[in-house]
Amino acid sequence: MAARRRTSVKLGVTGLGERQEIAPGVFINTVYRGCTPGFVITDEGLILIDTPLIPKQALDWRQQIEMEVPGLPILYVFNTDHHRGHALGNQYFLPTTVIAHERAYKEMSGYTENFKERVYNSYKREPEIQQQLTNIEIILPDITFTDGARLLYGGREVQLIYTGGHTPATSIAWLPEEKIAFVGDMLWVDQHPYMAQANSLEWIEALRRIRELGAEKLVPGHGPVCDPDDTMRVAEYILFMRQRVRDYYHEGKTKNEAKSGLVGEMLERFPVPLERKSKIESQIKSGINRVYREIQREEELATVDGTMGDALLVQEAQLEPA
Ligand SMILES: [Zn+2]
Repeated sequence: MAARRRTSVKLGVTGLGERQEIAPGVFINTVYRGCTPGFVITDEGLILIDTPLIPKQALDWRQQIEMEVPGLPILYVFNTDHHRGHALGNQYFLPTTVIAHERAYKEMSGYTENFKERVYNSYKREPEIQQQLTNIEIILPDITFTDGARLLYGGREVQLIYTGGHTPATSIAWLPEEKIAFVGDMLWVDQHPYMAQANSLEWIEALRRIRELGAEKLVPGHGPVCDPDDTMRVAEYILFMRQRVRDYYHEGKTKNEAKSGLVGEMLERFPVPLERKSKIESQIKSGINRVYREIQREEELATVDGTMGDALLVQEAQLEPA
């Protein structure tokens, strides 16, 4: 059983000058905001996983790489999803080839001036960060995949595996030799998972697949290195939400009633810093919104075909954490 960790909100430009080697030639930074980026050194060049959103941190990460392996080209930047914290820093690692899921390409293609403005405005309380965000350039994936891809370079193997779950684009990077998986936002540590674009059943199933990889270390999208058992708490959280939403649905409650009725119960399941409470509440509600529609579809299918609902219930029972 993994020890409970507490994460606090990171304010300011944290983590500068830090790189942590989690296996020979595999580095991460767990202190930057937006994501936990990684880089893998191969004899032919570097493979990066996710890029920091805040320019000062992205530039610092580039410097960390340069200090570790001066002059080595960046072969690939892999984005685990299209969210700002994972993909908006791509512009600081050029020239390179960005690779991501087909759906990430689609989502990022829709990042207009309006989106850049929203990113800018979201830092209105932190002017020192906001002023860095005036030149956002969206660097789209050059290569996309649907099920997966294998990068074989300089004696290393990095498998990109589509999982879905967190978003329809979410994919992970698996290093079978090192037994390390970069699992992006599939795994959250003591934080409420972001579910506004989620498919909850797919997410639970993907977490099980992640546990079956045989990984020794999981690098989450945010925060410190975990072990495969740490996925259980996210799975339990999502299962709990599904069950409670189903209860509400069966009681004839509407989506809005489910949202306002369940947000308090969900809030209790992970620590919430006071200053982020309202943001997390609305995040949880958008997750409930998503799950409600899923449950509604499942239940409607169950009415059409009597066996379907049972099949899903059995499936969920099997997913029930031990
Ligand atoms: Zn994400």
